[in-house]
Amino acid sequence: MKKTKKKLPKDSTLDSLFSQLVRRLAGYKCERCGSTYQYGVSHYHRRDVYSARWDLDNVAWLCNLCHNHTFHLHPDLHTAWFKKRLESEKFEQLSARAMLLAREIGLDREKIKVELKARLKIIEGK
Ligand SMILES: [Zn+2]
Repeated sequence: MKKTKKKLPKDSTLDSLFSQLVRRLAGYKCERCGSTYQYGVSHYHRRDVYSARWDLDNVAWLCNLCHNHTFHLHPDLHTAWFKKRLESEKFEQLSARAMLLAREIGLDREKIKVELKARLKIIEGK
């Protein structure tokens, strides 16, 4: 039976919390080149893959140049970099999770929000 992907509603609070955490974990610097200029969360598996959308293994904090250069122009380099960064086993596990639908992994947005807030508190030393 063919799986159909149902479009899920966006959650800007969750996206914002996730972005804050990724940025802080990266120390506000591009994880590839160290630049602090025009950066953002770069997803390896696209953002509309909800089973991996808020998965820390699936993202890097990248400047626009690194994101555009590798992700859009040289996807093979991007894959190699992500694989090296995560190590092969975790990369394979991430790819397996990304193949599933959000409901198949039991995605619970409220639970993710609580976890992200807790991690941010730890990082901020509160
Ligand atoms: Zn960069």
